[in-house]
Amino acid sequence: MTIHNLTKKTSILNKFIAEIRSKETQKDSLRFRRNIERIGEILGYELSSHFNYQSETVETPLGEKEIKLPSNELVICSILRAGIPLHQGLLNYFDDAESAFISAYRKHTTEKEFEIVVEYFASPDLTGKTLLLADPMLATGQSLVSVYESLHKHGTPKEIHIVAVLGSTEGIDYIHDKFPENTHLWIATIDERLNEKGYIIPGLGDAGDLAFGTKL
Ligand code: URA
Repeated sequence: MTIHNLTKKTSILNKFIAEIRSKETQKDSLRFRRNIERIGEILGYELSSHFNYQSETVETPLGEKEIKLPSNELVICSILRAGIPLHQGLLNYFDDAESAFISAYRKHTTEKEFEIVVEYFASPDLTGKTLLLADPMLATGQSLVSVYESLHKHGTPKEIHIVAVLGSTEGIDYIHDKFPENTHLWIATIDERLNEKGYIIPGLGDAGDLAFGTKL
């Protein structure tokens, strides 16, 4: 797996990351969702440099111009519910992509221990396609791996790009060898630590709650 950590270089991305982390700015859930979407757009732009391109001719009102256009068949797969704004950000740029949705949640067996339960899964055939697997919070990495294991019955993609906003070093280490070697991880920023409940520290809190409100 190749890791692309976008905060290695400074850019306007840092402002969006600062806003989603800030407990003051987080009070505005519309801004929180829109910032995740904007980060999805930036990650999408970056990863598009790894697509295949074919020359096509565009007719303008005054002539013709050759331009290289992406030829990959894309499927964007997001993990409900926190993945929805990230999914929208990717769709804003890859408007021809197909979509897949999967539900994965932590079922706590004790206060500190949990298993990942994957239930709902709606997906097109993935055979030979380029799969963008969107998970905003790559914390323990267990959800991503459970989702990947559930994908197989829908076909084998040609390649996988994992798209994440914030990850932990531990989570990245965990998923590293569990995906095919040609997988790319595109991540906006990485923190060092997880707490005993599997939350990223300092992180930003619960992305699903911040985007859509607290759940029971
Ligand atoms: N999911 C979140 O929303 N936040 C974390 O810190 C970890 C997982």
